[in-house]
Amino acid sequence: MRYYCMYCGASNSSISGLTAMHCRTSPTGRHVVYEGSEKKRYHCMYCGASNSSISGLCAMHCRTSPTGRHVPYAGDEKSRYSCKCCGATNSSISSLCAMSCRASPTGRHVPL
Ligand SMILES: [Zn+2]
Ligand SMILES: [Zn+2]
Ligand SMILES: [Zn+2]
Repeated sequence: MRYYCMYCGASNSSISGLTAMHCRTSPTGRHVVYEGSEKKRYHCMYCGASNSSISGLCAMHCRTSPTGRHVPYAGDEKSRYSCKCCGATNSSISSLCAMSCRASPTGRHVPL
């Protein structure tokens, strides 16, 4: 088992080892553990872009994300995704993220 940073994709064999190190992308300046399960594909929670690895996803720029990079969605795969800011639903993360949201700080729906 390896633990990954949700902001840059760095990995470590322990949570304490990961969070002790500095992170350039994280708002806190330290790596933050990705709490989701391992998946075949990871989707950005801010725009719905997908990649087969966390580090591959985090390496790319994101127009919607507050950090400027894609951030992997940590929830499980679902048949419908709900916006955590307003409750709007859609069957795919990318479709949900593509729509504007009045209640969200980013101006787009953010999947719960
Ligand atoms: Zn990091
Ligand atoms: Zn993104
Ligand atoms: Zn919304």
